[in-house]
Amino acid sequence: MTEDAIIVGGGFAGLSAAMQLARARRRVTVLDTGLPRNRFAAHAHGFLAQDGRPGLDILADARRQLAAYGTVTFRDTEAERLDGDIDAFSVLTGDGERIAARRVLLATGFEDRLPDVAGLAERWGKTVLHCPYCHGYEVGGGPMGVLARTADAARFATIVSDWGGVTLFTNGTAEPEEEALALLERRNVTLRPGRVTAIADGPDGMLSVETGPGIPTLVRALFVMPEARVRSAIPDDRALARKETPIGPIIKTDETGQTSLPGLYAAGDIAIGAGNISFASADGVKAGVMLHHSLIVAAN
Ligand SMILES: Cc1cc2nc3c(=O)[nH]c(=O)nc-3n(C[C@H](O)[C@H](O)[C@H](O)COP(=O)(O)OP(=O)(O)OC[C@H]3O[C@@H](n4cnc5c(N)ncnc54)[C@H](O)[C@@H]3O)c2cc1C
Repeated sequence: MTEDAIIVGGGFAGLSAAMQLARARRRVTVLDTGLPRNRFAAHAHGFLAQDGRPGLDILADARRQLAAYGTVTFRDTEAERLDGDIDAFSVLTGDGERIAARRVLLATGFEDRLPDVAGLAERWGKTVLHCPYCHGYEVGGGPMGVLARTADAARFATIVSDWGGVTLFTNGTAEPEEEALALLERRNVTLRPGRVTAIADGPDGMLSVETGPGIPTLVRALFVMPEARVRSAIPDDRALARKETPIGPIIKTDETGQTSLPGLYAAGDIAIGAGNISFASADGVKAGVMLHHSLIVAAN
């Protein structure tokens, strides 16, 4: 049996797309390895009507609701390879199964590559954070830190400074340019040059950010914009067009969510380069609807 669509990735974008297709009574298989990007954080914030719930609980609810639609199948396995073309795609799963589909949607999310600083990775999603809109409110104000990875960190620091006092750790990146420096000054952002050598626990639940032996700066949280990689070999295998962003290349899509390979769609973080459940969900809805339209148009 050929599916109308295979969705690779059952995170916020993938399940949002699946919902639109399920409600159009289309046959959909969702392949999912169950590792959404925000799994390191105990709670997800800023998603309307779900504020403060664990991200995995939100996804489990979505799955339960989708399972009630008789045309949706879930497989807890990886999509290893995509063969074929529009109307005749086939996906090889990690279980060795081949599933045929007319359309495919990639919604695999990102894998974050954190800067190589001792003590950083184990605090990811807890006191080392990616986004002030998601977690800044809970931090409760300054002092906070921003760890630079590229020159874009200056802009990021000016935004984070709206939540409280910020120190920008340049960590070996180039000094911000004149205009950025002036804005940082207006926002009262302190610049701390030098490499960050380690992150450790400080007193009273603070983080100690070390830029040399015996030079700690105490902050309540450290924000970092990590390099993000698309979590699938399929875009490389199928030579999909990319678009450069400050966090790394994302998959280029047209206004319908279709990639450079006809019939293959992409949605969520990997297509918009953002890090926000609401953006990813909205993008998944759009791709699901447009993918559905393409099935109808192709049939006439
Ligand atoms: C630490 C942290 C905390 C965050 N907190 C918040 C928050 O509070 N609020 C907020 O709005 N945003 C938050 N975000 C951002 C949010 O996690 C992402 O924007 C959102 O998860 C993107 O949704 P997505 O569907 O694109 O990808 P994901 O949610 O990452 O889902 C992708 C899914 O695809 C699966 N997958 C990957 N490759 C394959 C494959 N080859 N085959 C099958 N399955 C595959 C993965 O296992 C995963 O289940 C946070 C991010 C981080 C890093």
